[in-house]
Amino acid sequence: MSFGMIATWRMAYEGVVKMTAELAKGVTANQALVEAIKMVEDYPYYKSVGFGGLPNEEGQLELDAAFMDGDTLDIGAVAGIQETKNPIVVAEALSHERFNSFLVGLGATKYAKEQGFEQQEMVTERAKRLWELRLEEVQKNNLSPYDGHDTVGMISLDQAGKMVAGTSSSGLFMKKRGRVGDSPLSGSGFYVDSQIGGATATGLGEDLMKGCLSYETVRLMGEGLSPQAAVDQAVYRFNDKLVERKSKAGALSLVCMNPQGQWGIATNVEFSFVVATETEAPEVYIARPEGNRTEIVVATKEWLKAYDLRIKKPLS
Ligand code: ASP
Repeated sequence: MSFGMIATWRMAYEGVVKMTAELAKGVTANQALVEAIKMVEDYPYYKSVGFGGLPNEEGQLELDAAFMDGDTLDIGAVAGIQETKNPIVVAEALSHERFNSFLVGLGATKYAKEQGFEQQEMVTERAKRLWELRLEEVQKNNLSPYDGHDTVGMISLDQAGKMVAGTSSSGLFMKKRGRVGDSPLSGSGFYVDSQIGGATATGLGEDLMKGCLSYETVRLMGEGLSPQAAVDQAVYRFNDKLVERKSKAGALSLVCMNPQGQWGIATNVEFSFVVATETEAPEVYIARPEGNRTEIVVATKEWLKAYDLRIKKPLS
């Protein structure tokens, strides 16, 4: 049996490196995914997930996360949870509940507190400063406040052939209080079936939800398409449909994997992602749309260095 992980954005790299090494030793897909997403949530410089994430328009941090088990199809999710260190851990716990497995807002926060999940102030000084700077910028230049978001979405496959999916996100920067994106929504932000494969998304939640693109990608894999053909078809057809109907499409980026560890990715914007499998060492890739196909290259050392400088750039 093969094993592997695929995840959205450069920020998933450290977790994928650490946890594919563990998958090689036989840990479960669940353990690998939860630990790898926790690492992203805990790192303060990844500014759109967990600790240090991007506040809403009122300056509060409301987080979305989900977990799906590809064997049982169980799902757990939280939306708009606050002051909880690791939303992914709460989502995973909720996936074991027969009822009440998707909690939002105050209810989600209350559940996490009562069940003893670690609580902490999640808005960092840096995130607060970023928020103030954005507010000034938006007012001065009449900009859309919503640029600047990224979700960590991940699929993990273990040696027993089990697959799981997970997401974690602070959603759109400056979102309205109570706004929920695609990330905690089954079929939109993620979907996985161990017998077929899994997919997960990042981009503009309001548009991703319109196409249920994670489910669509898995459905197409189930029809016999390769992961790359499935995700190309799901993303580019839907992008074209949105352009036709509404004259524009927001960012749509998806990654997917099947139980053989074969993977695919499609995107209508430049996008980084991370993959590692039994036969492929962990690598950060950059993807770009090329017509209705995807061009994929390994991220260069220069790109990786510039990224590191950018996320840690001192704020005035
Ligand atoms: N899809 C996320 C949301 O709309 C944001 C992102 O992935 O960039 O909440």
